Amino acid sequence: MDPANPFRALPSVDELLGAPRVRAACAGMPRELAAGFVQEVLAAWRERIRAEQPTAAEIERRIAAGELGAAIEARVARERRAGLCRAINASGVVLNTGLGRAPLHPEAAARMAEVAAGYSVLEVDRESGQRNQRDDRISALCARLFGCEAAIAVNNNAAAVTLVLAALARGREVVLSRGELVEIGGAFRMPAVMEMAGCVLREVGTTNRTRLSDYRDALGERTALLLRVHPSNFRVIGFTEEAEHEAVVALAHGRGLPAAWDLGSGLVEAGGAAPLEALGEEPTVRAALGAGYDVVTFSGDKLLGGPQAGIVVGKREWIARVRACPLYRALRLDKSQIAALEATLELLLAGRGDELPTRALLRMSAGETRARCEALVAQLAALGVRDGASGVALRIVECASQPGSGSAPDVYLPGFALELRVAGREGGALATALRLGEPPVFARVQDGALLVDPRTLLAGEDEALARALAAVVRG
Ligand SMILES: *Cc1c(COP(=O)(O)O)cnc(C)c1O
Repeated sequence: MDPANPFRALPSVDELLGAPRVRAACAGMPRELAAGFVQEVLAAWRERIRAEQPTAAEIERRIAAGELGAAIEARVARERRAGLCRAINASGVVLNTGLGRAPLHPEAAARMAEVAAGYSVLEVDRESGQRNQRDDRISALCARLFGCEAAIAVNNNAAAVTLVLAALARGREVVLSRGELVEIGGAFRMPAVMEMAGCVLREVGTTNRTRLSDYRDALGERTALLLRVHPSNFRVIGFTEEAEHEAVVALAHGRGLPAAWDLGSGLVEAGGAAPLEALGEEPTVRAALGAGYDVVTFSGDKLLGGPQAGIVVGKREWIARVRACPLYRALRLDKSQIAALEATLELLLAGRGDELPTRALLRMSAGETRARCEALVAQLAALGVRDGASGVALRIVECASQPGSGSAPDVYLPGFALELRVAGREGGALATALRLGEPPVFARVQDGALLVDPRTLLAGEDEALARALAAVVRG
């Protein structure tokens, strides 16, 4: 054994697993799992020794300084943070895809948990004992809420659009305006989706102008479907023109063809919910059906405020064709999604739509956001964090929050946010520390400051947020 060999200065896995610091970090963890992390860190150290060729004494010094223990602690901490967990959204983006889009109503979340934990009547009729369709109830609820003849629900709206295309237009042409040939949320590109569904894309018009005559000229023997797509977070402004929805639908119907509209967000103005005026011209599901579209698709977890789902509403005949497509089986919802979606639709039908968190957050007034900022300042003061003390600067500033997820992209919701600066620390570093806390908090960074937007805080989260901010300020 060579005492100068730096590799020999590294302790064994067993020695490390017995060290108090490592034992504390790995508490509650099966020994094999902990050993795996220790081995991983040791391997990284050996790699560094090979690259940097330090002396054995140097390695011993680093270990004595606690560097190896800290590296193992950090690796285990990263593992403990790795899974899906609840987070606080202080970003001001209401439908934040990275943060899971629509927070569910507590009743919807409770129904979801209840059904998930046991057996359920997922696909069985209680009177006859016979099998039924898992989304029969969703179809009935949608009929009442939107005035459609029938509906089905699948895993998300991307699945809904793909399914509609495959079911109604496989091997044939789909006519779509060049102004609506968009990519939605990374990798969902209309031309690629068409190809995947086995359809031939027939582009009409130009990016900024598509007239009724463009659609008319494109309809032919091979046409199966006329499709409109909400351009989501893409806008063409200035010299633009698009054909009237009623006229496009009449054109399709005149040729015996169905017309479909992928709405994306699916704004609901029904069931006693007050209109969301702030969302400007975002089309509603009812308006789309009213314009005569045979099939309308939208997300469950955007403006509807429910679980991840893709909802297809429309005329009975076409919905039946969509359901009969073999792809439907591959895209269907699971029982917990169905439970949450049914509960959300029922809340809307009961006139309790304004209780849905998404709608409540979108509707929050600027005055309310200011009051929540003031409450946060008071909570921070109680935790010893004050403007002007120990390098901390706290200000309530005007800000603009966003609906998010491509819903009403040109809409900014006016309100107030809490601006936090700490001397010697960048806003980005504060944001990172917040993300790594328990629970993780997501805020914005603006002009080098941390911007905490209270619009997206849910009931009961204020105190945890104040504690998280105080912890980060103290470093
Ligand atoms: C968001 C969106 C989609 C995709 O919906 P997911 O539910 O995210 O799959 C499709 N089309 C439009 C127009 C959208 O806005």
